[in-house]
Amino acid sequence: ILVFDGVVKSYGEAPVLQGVSFSVKAGEVVCVVGPSGSGKSTLLRCVNGLEKFTAGRILFEGAELPTSERSLAQIRQRIGMVFQHFELFPHMTVLGNVVEGPVQVLGESKASARARGLELLAKVGLESKQHERPANLSGGQQQRVAIARALAMRPDLMLFDEATSALDPQMVGEVLGVMKQLADDGMTMLIVTHEMGFAKRVADRVVVLDQGQVIASGPPSDVLENSANPRVREFLQQVR
Ligand code: ATP
Ligand code: MG
Repeated sequence: ILVFDGVVKSYGEAPVLQGVSFSVKAGEVVCVVGPSGSGKSTLLRCVNGLEKFTAGRILFEGAELPTSERSLAQIRQRIGMVFQHFELFPHMTVLGNVVEGPVQVLGESKASARARGLELLAKVGLESKQHERPANLSGGQQQRVAIARALAMRPDLMLFDEATSALDPQMVGEVLGVMKQLADDGMTMLIVTHEMGFAKRVADRVVVLDQGQVIASGPPSDVLENSANPRVREFLQQVR
């Protein structure tokens, strides 16, 4: 469903991605890990055109990413994104946040968007908070609303960029739990995370990025437990 083929990105002289190639198949969960500054966020932003890359190709559902803003906007509708800093609409209720996209962008009726919105809120365990404003929720709850909001757009692919890094430790588990459940439901997911335990349990494959290059990729047991690559081992020691 998603193919990176020799993706290169630099800011001026500074290379950030140096020929990244790997793919994500439909229904797969791929976790991208690596040191700070290795280019993980940049890579995700390239997928939905928030960032232009310098060379190489990214294919989404078999077609190269378009360059026009208009076509990119259509691609973005099919790709859900959840960031470290959730940006919910503060003036809307929780349910309002979830139905906004389907009604405004997809043209769904309010009634059907609300019904589905409630289903999604139930799925992330927040049906009882539907009338609250985001500010009245905990960080973990807000992040779960952000996931429900992304799912409301019926994405074919979900991107997560350190969705739990800004959360207090006791809230990390509830968000990872929702992500795990999504994976079990068969959602295709590309996840940047520092949670090695989660990657081990949930990922079909792990990709290690270092200085803009893929230095290892494969099943979590190979990459996270038995890697012979000294740079991978060094990174893993630092995050433990
Ligand atoms: P972290 O784990 O800290 O989130 P990361 O792997 O997500 O790191 P990126 O945010 O993708 O790393 O950044 C990769 C490199 O690109 C870094 O060296 C960063 O300084 C550089 N970079 C990112 N955005 C810009 C920008 N807009 N202009 C110039 N350099 C940038
Ligand atoms: Mg980042």
